[in-house]
Amino acid sequence: MNAVTPKRALGQHFLSDKNIARKIVGTLTFQDYQAVLEIGPGMGILTEFLASMSDCEIRYIEIDRSAIEYLSNKFPGIQHKIIAGDILKTKLTDIFTIPFAIIGNLPYNISSQIFFKILECRHIVREVVCMIQKEVATRIISPPGSREYGILSVLLQAYYHIEHLFNVNPGVFIPPPGVVSSVIRLKRNEHETLGCDESLFFRVVKTAFNQRRKILKNSLKTMINNNISTEDIWHYRPEQLGVRDFIGLTSLIGNSGHMQKISNC
Ligand code: SAM
Repeated sequence: MNAVTPKRALGQHFLSDKNIARKIVGTLTFQDYQAVLEIGPGMGILTEFLASMSDCEIRYIEIDRSAIEYLSNKFPGIQHKIIAGDILKTKLTDIFTIPFAIIGNLPYNISSQIFFKILECRHIVREVVCMIQKEVATRIISPPGSREYGILSVLLQAYYHIEHLFNVNPGVFIPPPGVVSSVIRLKRNEHETLGCDESLFFRVVKTAFNQRRKILKNSLKTMINNNISTEDIWHYRPEQLGVRDFIGLTSLIGNSGHMQKISNC
């Protein structure tokens, strides 16, 4: 069986350390779900540990034909569970309609887009265990007030408890990436809904951070009527607001009223 020649365009940096692979798969909690989707199995270093889990529905989605061929030869028993496709063009609810977890050493070039995709299916994606660039992990985990805090931090923290598990050095990949990687775990929090118009919440967060140097009164101008108060929250910048503030802000905009800043951050 010939190894897959790594393709830079597909973000292929294959993990070569089985102990790290075992550790990553071992961090799945199996709380509240009985199905797992692996994104980008590549040459199957995580797959090897997943495939032996008999009490769980597992699917694998991989875009690279040569990797699929390699996997099918190496693990004939999972051939029918491999979806040949692009995760970004696949509806997650076409794969599973029951609550599930996602695992993967994600292709770094599309990791943010994958997180937005996960957010679209937050009602059934109960857990995510993934390896991503450390820099992206830092952004996702950052608290309000930090330079890294941004759209993905707010949106993911609104729906998931997020933990940084451990870092992985470039030397254990073939070929080594130019950056340190981090393994993180996201667990769906106890709030099924945020208690506000959630599509408006997404728009408010994105619009505010798209002009992050501006105060909210200016960056959200197109979303609010003229009748806003002149103090408090409207004079903050988005990085000063916690998730609850953004929820309050969304309700305020939805009701066309005004609000005070509601939490310290
Ligand atoms: N899981 C393997 C490992 O740990 O060695 C491979 C990880 S590699 C960083 C990322 C994998 O995602 C590659 O196998 C790549 O072909 C696959 N991939 C890249 N873009 C993809 C996409 N849009 N949809 C599905 N898989 C993709």
